[in-house]
Amino acid sequence: MEDLKKLIRDVPDFPKEGIIFKDITTLLKDGAQFRKSVDALAEHYNPEEIDLVLGIEARGFIFGAALAYKWAKPFIIVRKPGKLPAEIENEEYELEYGTDAIEIHRDAISKDQRVLIVDDLLATGGTVAAVTRLVEKLGGKVSGIAFLIELGFLKGKELLSKYDVFSLLRYQ
Ligand code: AMP
Repeated sequence: MEDLKKLIRDVPDFPKEGIIFKDITTLLKDGAQFRKSVDALAEHYNPEEIDLVLGIEARGFIFGAALAYKWAKPFIIVRKPGKLPAEIENEEYELEYGTDAIEIHRDAISKDQRVLIVDDLLATGGTVAAVTRLVEKLGGKVSGIAFLIELGFLKGKELLSKYDVFSLLRYQ
């Protein structure tokens, strides 16, 4: 995993001062290591216990779609407001200043389907917590939450303590 960590670029003060942005584009540029990261995430799960893979816009699509392809599972998406064309469910969540929202198609999930949620990075956990609420509103069950990267010092895992959370790379 140290090989993978070396490929993630730290960009200081992006998108604002004080944030160290974990840039995964430098990992995606290395085909063998990109595949290794997807395979290592996949290894953690038994696909027989997953009905749907859910990717969160935008970087969750990259790893979520790759996992869905690998397992030949359906792939569903959560997007920023105003992007999904059919009937949607919406959920708001807190930001440092103000609120944001995410949306899912109402017909994305059927009752009792087991959903693996995928995103690139766990920071405060606010985004993914809102996604778990969307899944449950539609009658789905969160079977797990997978991240490439976890920023442990932000304690996002505490917000998600009800769920099985797995991250490939941790930064304390
Ligand atoms: P949060 O809701 O705080 O867990 O934020 C998660 C979302 O913000 C993820 O989709 C990340 O892609 C993005 N994000 C937050 N902090 C960072 C960071 N330091 N580097 C890269 N992406 C980040």
